Amino acid sequence: MQHHTFDACIVGAGGAGLFAALEASQSASVAVISKLYPTRSHTGTAQGGIGAALGNMEEDHWEWHMFDTVKGSDYLGDQDAIEVMCRDAIDVVYHLEHLGLPFSRTPDGRIAQRPFGGHTRNYGEAPVRRACYAADRTGHMILQTLYQQCIKNRVTFFDEFQVLDLLVEDGRTAGVVALELRTGELHVFHSKAVLFATGGFGRMYRVTSNAHALTGDGAALVLRRGLPLEDMEFFQFHPTGIRKMGILITEGARGEGGILRNKDGERFMERYAPTLLDLAPRDMISRAIYTEIREGRGINGEDYVLLDLTHLDPKVIEERLPDITDFVRTYLGLDPIKDPIPVQPTAHYAMGGIPTDVDGRVVVDEQNTVLPGLYAAGEIACVSVHGANRLGTNSLLDILVFGRRAGADIARFVKEAELPPLPKEPDGNVRAEVERLLGQQGKEHAATLRRELQDAMMDKASVFRTEEGLTEMREKLGELRERYRHVHVGDRGHQFNTDLLETMELGFMLDLAEATVESALARKESRGAHYREDYPKRDDANFLKHTLFHRKEEGGFELRYKPVTITRFQPKERVY
Ligand SMILES: Cc1cc2nc3c(=O)[nH]c(=O)nc-3n(C[C@H](O)[C@H](O)[C@H](O)COP(=O)(O)OP(=O)(O)OC[C@H]3O[C@@H](n4cnc5c(N)ncnc54)[C@H](O)[C@@H]3O)c2cc1C
Repeated sequence: MQHHTFDACIVGAGGAGLFAALEASQSASVAVISKLYPTRSHTGTAQGGIGAALGNMEEDHWEWHMFDTVKGSDYLGDQDAIEVMCRDAIDVVYHLEHLGLPFSRTPDGRIAQRPFGGHTRNYGEAPVRRACYAADRTGHMILQTLYQQCIKNRVTFFDEFQVLDLLVEDGRTAGVVALELRTGELHVFHSKAVLFATGGFGRMYRVTSNAHALTGDGAALVLRRGLPLEDMEFFQFHPTGIRKMGILITEGARGEGGILRNKDGERFMERYAPTLLDLAPRDMISRAIYTEIREGRGINGEDYVLLDLTHLDPKVIEERLPDITDFVRTYLGLDPIKDPIPVQPTAHYAMGGIPTDVDGRVVVDEQNTVLPGLYAAGEIACVSVHGANRLGTNSLLDILVFGRRAGADIARFVKEAELPPLPKEPDGNVRAEVERLLGQQGKEHAATLRRELQDAMMDKASVFRTEEGLTEMREKLGELRERYRHVHVGDRGHQFNTDLLETMELGFMLDLAEATVESALARKESRGAHYREDYPKRDDANFLKHTLFHRKEEGGFELRYKPVTITRFQPKERVY
């Protein structure tokens, strides 16, 4: 076992982790621990853009951005946090520009902006151009820029190290335990502060835009330490994944003028969202697509519709959407300039996660009590700025605004805090679990269990939900958990044992699927991405509140609730 000491450990090297590391490293010693090589993090696949009311193309204000985000969240987002995000947005984008991010430009040299779903001018009148972008490689540019800056600032990187436990001693955060992929060796990282920035967990669904590594490790580790997860019932399906593959076609394609059509060639969004049409929020468009399919208007009677870009100027397609054009040519053998693209909703984004305040500090109960030294930021955190449904471009914004704020708070915290003692045998838990998995002779295989989990979640806990389906899913999870206890890890070696790590990741996903399903069963209303066919209306009287899912020590779980912070905008019916 190897031992390291730093002021702060950042777990995850996506946009959130890197911006936090960069900020904290101004005055603290910082380690970034990442199971992937940093620039392979999912942030690098983000295509469309980052939202900020710069007003470069037309009039825009952060208050409008705030209103759109609150309305998009179906009024479940905390408005104090949303205000912070939309105000900070402008500064964060210029900060990135000054760090060297090569944004696409207007002819007069300013940062170019394009429309995105749910972003409007003057409180809902019409779409506004708010998304700042670097062609359709915005996330790639963010990651490269921040990684370079971290290297320049002497952040220490531990690449291909997978964190498998969080250490808490005397009610304080004491570090993490990680397994080095290359050697199989365990490393204890002793620190005053830990930030989880481990990204989403779309891999619990069959059709997803998410990378293979998005298995929710950080959230599961926190849950296993007795801390709650917030609003786990809200999982976003993006309307335009490439059919069957789930690979994302950015909303930027509709921002540039793309149109969704059913088998009759009809622009069906005219019936669902007469003002914003194809730029309505994602929850609404995903439901509209499923409704078209259910009513027999899918293409050839099958489970997909078409995204039509053929009326656009080929130059716009080639210059502003080069990557997705390439994907469609490579994966489908179609040319978006001439052929409409077959699409269906794809599991995309976790609105729920580890509850935090606006400085990234993890809060452990309904009173928002802070656990000293523990932080979370990025997709794995729930601040909550997205509430029941996130708007496009608001995730890159969220990870950067709150990653940077968390980094700044960590720098403040570690200056004053002492290094807490380590627990006795800090790596004991992980060692025992690794030995158990490598030692046992079960009949079950992780790949089979994972596929069954993904299929069942897709059928029973996705865009449309019912009491019956969710209850079946609860039972299925019970069965899968039992079978997981008898799982067999074929590779018994130590070096690059991805079989072992994937098995552990399956364990994380089973935990998070349980949190999702139980939170969804209890929410007997429809709000944002959580649509209950048996309770099709939003019910503010009973459910205008955040869910907190806890695991009980003696087994089982408990759901608690905390109020939504409402400052400027009272809940209204959502019409687009
Ligand atoms: C295809 C696609 C396109 C998108 N496009 C946009 C867009 O245009 N605009 C927008 O706003 N949002 C977009 N999103 C959403 C947005 O990109 C993500 O929500 C965001 O990038 C997540 O960033 P993150 O820093 O939280 O995590 P990630 O970038 O996912 O990084 C997670 C990090 O955690 C590390 N990690 C995970 N588990 C462990 C562990 N156990 N031990 C050590 N390290 C670990 C990984 O190595 C990785 O470095 C898109 C998402 C996808 C999937």
